Amino acid sequence: MLKEILSGDTCAKCRMCCVFDRYDIWETPVFDENSRNLVMEYNAEAKFARKGRGFVLNVGEITDGELYSCPALTENGCVLGDNKPFDCRIWPFRIMECDGKRVIAVSTLCEEIHNRDHEELKTFLQKGLAAEIFAYADKNPEAVKPYYDNYTVILEERSL
Ligand code: SF4
Repeated sequence: MLKEILSGDTCAKCRMCCVFDRYDIWETPVFDENSRNLVMEYNAEAKFARKGRGFVLNVGEITDGELYSCPALTENGCVLGDNKPFDCRIWPFRIMECDGKRVIAVSTLCEEIHNRDHEELKTFLQKGLAAEIFAYADKNPEAVKPYYDNYTVILEERSL
C-alpha cells in the first residue's frame, strides 16, 4: 500500500514496527481471523485476545528494557507476507482519534517517512489511501487508536 513512497528493501532492513517495548506495546497490530490463524500455524505459542471484530496479541507484562517481538516475525521478515494485518500494511501511518476527530497520523519512529515533506504525505494519502483507511475503520473501529504524541497528524477526516 505504501510502495509508491516506501521501498520493500527499506522496510526489510528495519523491522522497527515489529518489535515493541513497554511504551509502544499498544502499537501491536489488530489481526483478522485469517492472519491470526496463520500466525498460530507458524508459532503455536502466540496468544491472542478478542478485540472487536479482530484479535490482538496477548502480550502480558513487559518490564523496562524488555523487548517483545511479534510472533509473526522471522529472520526473513514477516511470515504473513501479503496477509499482514491492515495496521502493518499502512504503518507508519495510523488512524487515531484526536480531540473527537478521526485523523491519519505518521509515527516519528519511521524516519524514512516522517522526514518527508508532510504536504507531500498528505497529497499521497488524498490520492486514495486515506479514503481506504477511513472505510476500513468504519468496518473495524478497533483499528482507531487513541492519539499518542509520538505521532504527527497529517490529515483530518474532513480535509479529505
Ligand atoms: S504481523 Fe508481521 S508486519 Fe505486523 S508486526 Fe507482526 S511481524 Fe511485523
